[in-house]
Amino acid sequence: MKLIDGKACAASIRAQIKETVEKLEEKPALAVVLVGTDPASQIYVRNKIRACEETGIISYSYTLPETATQEQLEELLETLANDDKVTGVLLQLPLPKKFNAEAAMKKIPPQKDVDGFSAEHLGNLVLNKPGTVACTPLGVMKLLEREGVDLTGKNAVVLGRSDTVGKPMALLLLNANATVTVCHSKTVNLKEICRNADVLVVAIGRAKFVTADMVKDGAVVVDVGINRDENGKMCGDVDFDAVKDKVSLITPVPGGVGPMTIAMLMQNTLDAAKK
Ligand code: NAP
Repeated sequence: MKLIDGKACAASIRAQIKETVEKLEEKPALAVVLVGTDPASQIYVRNKIRACEETGIISYSYTLPETATQEQLEELLETLANDDKVTGVLLQLPLPKKFNAEAAMKKIPPQKDVDGFSAEHLGNLVLNKPGTVACTPLGVMKLLEREGVDLTGKNAVVLGRSDTVGKPMALLLLNANATVTVCHSKTVNLKEICRNADVLVVAIGRAKFVTADMVKDGAVVVDVGINRDENGKMCGDVDFDAVKDKVSLITPVPGGVGPMTIAMLMQNTLDAAKK
C-alpha cells in the first residue's frame, strides 16, 4: 500500500500559485460569504482565507447572521458580482435550512463562480469542454494524475451522487475514459459493485462505511468523506485500517482530499482572475 499525500501535493500547488500571483500586477481577489455559525463551515472558511493569505490572493470575508433574509443574502452576492475589485465569489455551503441555496447561487455569475457549481460550468463538464470544475473532484483528479494512475478503460466506482462532489467526480472520470458506475443510497448490490472497482472514490458522509470486503485487491481508493468517529476523531468514509493492506493506493483522512480542495479553490480563483 502507498499513501497518497494530499497535504504535500496541495502545498506544492499552493507554492506554484504563489509564484504566479507574485508576478501579477492585479492580484486575484476572493470574496467568501458565510451565513450562520455552523462550526464546520467556520473552519472551512478560515482555512480558505488562510490559503488566500499564503498564496497572495486578496480575500474579503462576509458573515451574515442566520436571521438575515434570503433577499439580504442575494443583495450581497449581487453587489459582489458587480464589484470589479472582486474576481471570485464563494458562498459557503450548506446554508441554514430556511435559505434557498439554488436561488442564491444564481446571483454568482459563471466568470466569478470559483466553485464551479453553476449550471454553465456543470454543463461544460457534461460536454467535456473547458470550464471551472468543482474543487473537490478536481483535487481528486490531480492526486490520481500525480500518482500516475491511468484511468483509461478502468472500472471506476463513485459512491455518492451529490451535485458538488459525486456527479462532477463521475463526469471527470468518464472524460478521462474510465468506465464509471455511480452508486447512491438506493443502489442494490453496493458491495459487489464496489468490489469490482479498480478506482473507488467515496463521498457519502458515513464514517468508516467502506469495509475490507467492499474493496478489490490492489484497488486505488480515494476517500472524500469528513466525519467524526465514536471518539470524536476525524475520519473518512473508508475504514482506513481495515482496507489499507488490500489496496495499492489510498488517501488518508485528514491529509488526503481535504487540502487538495482548498488548493484547487486557489487555482480556480487565479484562473478566474486571469480570464
Ligand atoms: P451529500 O450531499 O450529503 O451526498 C451524499 C451522497 O451519498 C448522496 O448521493 C447519498 O445518496 C449518498 N449516500 C448516503 N448514504 C449512503 C449509503 N449508505 N450508501 C450509498 N450511498 C449513500 O454529501 P457530499 O456533499 O457529497 O459530501 C460527502 C462527504 O464528503 C461528506 O462527508 C462531506 O463532509 C465530505 N466532503 C469533503 C470534502 C473535502 O474537501 N474533503 C469536500 C466536500 C465534501 P442519495 O443521493 O440517494 O441520498
